[in-house]
This record gives sequence, C-alpha cells and structure tokens, in this order.
Amino acid sequence: MAEVRLESISKSFGGLTVLPDLDLTVPEGSFTVLVGPSGCGKSTLLRIISGLEMPTAGTVRIGGQDVTFDEPSKRGISMVFQSYALYPHMTVAQNIDFGLRLAKVPAAERQTRVAEAARILALTDYLDRKPSQLSGGQRQRVAIGRSIVRQPKVFLFDEPLSNLDAALRTQMRVELAQLHQSLDATMIYVTHDQVEAMTLADQIVVMNAGRIEQVGAPMDLYDRPQTAFVAGFIGSPK
Ligand code: ADP
Ligand code: MG
Repeated sequence: MAEVRLESISKSFGGLTVLPDLDLTVPEGSFTVLVGPSGCGKSTLLRIISGLEMPTAGTVRIGGQDVTFDEPSKRGISMVFQSYALYPHMTVAQNIDFGLRLAKVPAAERQTRVAEAARILALTDYLDRKPSQLSGGQRQRVAIGRSIVRQPKVFLFDEPLSNLDAALRTQMRVELAQLHQSLDATMIYVTHDQVEAMTLADQIVVMNAGRIEQVGAPMDLYDRPQTAFVAGFIGSPK
C-alpha cells in the first residue's frame, strides 16, 4: 500500500479547465471515497492518478515518489471501471490471468496468484466458466480479480457498482469492505451513491466543479459540513 498525494494539480481540455488547482492527500491504506455531481472532475482525477491522463500542471506522488510522467504500468496502481470489459471468449481464470501473462509473470506464480484472487472473491468454483455464464455480481468480481492479481499498491474504482441492481450493490459493498481489510491496499473510490460513500469510506472527499469542498471522515462531514454544498450532498442519508 502507498500514500497518494496530488500537489497543485490542474487539468484543462482545450479551453475547458476541469481542475483549476487541486491538492489532496490519500493516506496509505485508507479507503478514500470521492463524491460530487456528474461532470465535476472525479473520473479525470482518477485518470490523472492512474496515468491515463496527464495533468496540465502539478505533481502526482505515489508512496512519496514523483510519478507524474511515469507510464500507467509503472505506477503500481490498478483501475476498476463501471463497465468491466471482460474477454467473452476467455474463461474466468484466463480473464484474471490476462494482465499477468502480458507482464510475463512466470506461469507457476501466475497460477498461485489467480487461485488466491479467486479464493478472496469466492470465484474458485467458477474459474472454468465464460463471462456469459456468470451473474452481474460475479462478473464484477472477475473484473476486481484482474486488479488483485497484479498486487497493486493502490486500487482506483470508478463507480464500479453503478450498473448493478440495488440488492447486488449492497452485497458488493460488503465485499469491497472485506476486500479492503484483507488486502492492506490504498483504495480510491468514486461514487455518486451517498450510502456507498458513508459506509465504505475512512475519508470522503466532496468535489464540486473541479474543486474540493471538504475532506473528512463520514460522520465528520455529516455532523460538521463546512459548506451548504457539502450539507446538501452528504446530508440526511435515507
Ligand atoms: P465526473 O467523473 O465527475 O462525472 P469527468 O472527470 O468525467 O467528471 O469530467 C469532468 C469534465 O471534463 C466534464 O465537463 C467533461 O465533459 C470534461 N472532460 C473529461 N474528459 C474529457 C476529454 N477527454 N476531452 C474533453 N473534455 C473532457
Ligand atoms: Mg465519472
């Protein structure tokens, strides 16, 4: 696990400034949740941390190291998206193994890691199935499995549960919390679901129009919102 630190990060697309000037520290081993309205820059921030997007200015540090100009594969991070694109023609095992094979990890080690990820995610009995033979929740677990096997220091999740129905979301929420405990990793998790944020987070970051409104523990934000925006966004979960 590793701390993630963003220093004076700005990002513009052409004439559009999405992140004017952002500082954020994500403590090592924390479950940090980013919330904020659609279009406020949450995904852009994750993409900058992962290296899929370059900041216009500023520094990205992972574990203290300046990784601003490092390739995604060199950062020790892993990203799970909302639309988990599994390879339909591959089995669950092959899907989980895919990144390791690309990275030329030796076969014996790959086998151990895939088995361990499958155990953590309760997929052991499904390793020979194709994605089409799985439920939505199982598919999402395979997507997470592909991240786990790479043993990242930091996991980035971009609304990973938003395509699932309510019952499954609740179940996956519990599983993600357990995953965080068992993996000892830093997790940065984007959601627009207030309940998800309140139940999963050690630290919630409330964003609005590319700026951070407030950072704090869930009950902290709930009891002591510093702005009307935060109060409105976090307030009275049902
Ligand atoms: P969120 O994830 O919070 O919904 P995004 O980070 O996806 O927000 O987007 C923030 C803003 O940046 C939006 O106005 C979006 O249209 C814009 N944006 C994101 N990516 C690009 C891009 N590649 N080119 C141009 N504009 C973009
Ligand atoms: Mg987004």
